[in-house]
Parts: sequence; C-alpha cells; structure tokens
Amino acid sequence: MHLTTRQLFLSHVVLLAGSSASALAAPASKTVSLSYIARLYSMRTSVSGKKVVMKNKWNNIEVETNSRRAWVNGVMVWLHHPCRKAGGGWAIRELDFKKGIDPILRSYAYVPTKKPNMVVLDPGHGGKDPGAVGTRKVYEKKAVLSIANRVKAHLEAKKIPVRMTRTTDVYLTLNQRSDYAAKVGADLFVSIHADSAEASSANGVETFTMTAAGCDSSNYYGQSGDKSTKRGNQYDAANAVLGFSIQSNLVKMSKRSDRGLRRARFAVLKNAPCPAALVECGFLSNPEEEALMIDPNYREAVARGISNGILGYITLVNRARK
Ligand SMILES: [Zn+2]
Repeated sequence: MHLTTRQLFLSHVVLLAGSSASALAAPASKTVSLSYIARLYSMRTSVSGKKVVMKNKWNNIEVETNSRRAWVNGVMVWLHHPCRKAGGGWAIRELDFKKGIDPILRSYAYVPTKKPNMVVLDPGHGGKDPGAVGTRKVYEKKAVLSIANRVKAHLEAKKIPVRMTRTTDVYLTLNQRSDYAAKVGADLFVSIHADSAEASSANGVETFTMTAAGCDSSNYYGQSGDKSTKRGNQYDAANAVLGFSIQSNLVKMSKRSDRGLRRARFAVLKNAPCPAALVECGFLSNPEEEALMIDPNYREAVARGISNGILGYITLVNRARK
C-alpha cells in the first residue's frame, strides 16, 4: 500500500471508530427494541393481533411483527427490514429508526436548517415517452403535467418559488431532470407520476423516497444490483420527513387507499441534489382510478395533497430554525 493511501486509510478508520465503534462492527444489522422506542417517546405499549401498538398523547406507532409494514399516526411507513423477535421482545433495525421513524416524529432534529427557497416539480415522462396508458387511453404524461401545474399554483399562492422540469409535452431524460434541479438550486424536488400494474385491482396512492445504502427497496425484495451510497442518500432523514408529510396529506386529500411511504432507487431520487420524493397519484391500470385521473376534482384533490405535504415540510424546517 502506498504511504499516503495508507495514512488516509488509517485516518478514515480512526474517524469511523471515533464516531461509532459499534456501527463499524455491524453497520446494517444493529437493532433497537420496540420497548426502547416506547420508553424514549414515553409511549404505552399494547398488542393488537399481529401489531405492536405504541401510543402517547400526541403520536402513535404501530409495527406489524415479522413484516416491513409500520404505521405512524395511521399512515403506512415501509421499513427496510422486517420487525423481528430479538432477546425476548420485538425489534427493528436501528437504521429504520434513525432514517424513518425518528425523523418523522422528531423532524426538528433532522431537517436541514436552510430555509427552502426553491421547489422543483418534475412531471414524469413526456414527449415520446407517454408513461402508463390506461384502457380508456388516459396518458400518464398528460395527467401528471396537469397535477404539477396545480401544485405549482398552490405553492406560488403561498409565495414559494417553483420551477418545473417541463411545462409542455416534451421528452427529458432522467438525468436532465435531476441536473435541472441542481442547476436552479433546488431545496426540494418532487417527481409526480401515476402507477400501473398487471393486476387491474391494484389501487391507491404511494410516495417513494431513496432507499438507504445497503438495503433493499420496498418494491423489490431481495433485489441484486448496486446498493452503494448515492447523492440522494445524504438526505435520508430529511427524505423521510418530506415523504411522510406528502403521503399523509395525499391520502387525506385523495381519499384513496394508503400504499405507504416506500423506498426505491429511482434515478431521480438517486441523483437528487436535495431532499426528494416521488409521488404515485393512482393506478391507470385500475378502471376506477383511470377515470379519476381525468377528473379535474380528483386532480385538484391530489394537487392539494402534494402541495400541503410540501408546505408541511417547509413549516417543519422553519420551526426547527427557531
Ligand atoms: Zn411514471
């Protein structure tokens, strides 16, 4: 080993050991017990069917045992790893606590201190790429542009500067979208999509944020491929705050079923230069939701959900700054 490389290597190890010796020994497998979490938040614990329920006056957390599903204040949050039995009780990975549950409940300790001045909205697809197309020929690229325009209007009404990656029916590569966000100095990036699935019964709304390094995404259990740290991972905790704020408001306003805050390594999330989320506003492969996607009332409701979610995040940042 070259001397300078070796010196660098050694200082790196010392730094790591200084920050968290135990994390170095077992980075992804460290767990926290649900009883520890309940104590930390002064919550009472009970069991309801397969769920451990923890509650205090303000918040409640439900964790499904042997599952990746949890709920915070009634909104579904997918964990990177299932809740498992450990040492006589139930436990989740420390990573899911520090990059999911805790940022959602104690946002002030995790959000960036810079006031968000610029929101970039990214209507998915466009031009030669129609995105999903329903049986009644509703095009994802058109529906999401209409929703994004409505989100923009709601944010601008609150004096929040907004830019869009596209305002017309043009094709953009995925890299062009995140490059644009970086170029205009985005403080938040929200990509807007509609879903499609083989089963026409699939329905509901969901919000994705970047998967933590080394973990599997919520949509591909046990996936192979590159799980290394990406640019978007520096905002892991803030992503969870933003994603949860959007998903809770989206479920409330759209009145569709809650598919949860999920994790995926979508290109626009991987390369995001700021906290980022990708929203799926309903399934074009589901006849009922396809009809909703061309209904101006539904588009408006979804746009309200997304903009209220973004405004909720901005309020949390402003509160943390005080
Ligand atoms: Zn899409």
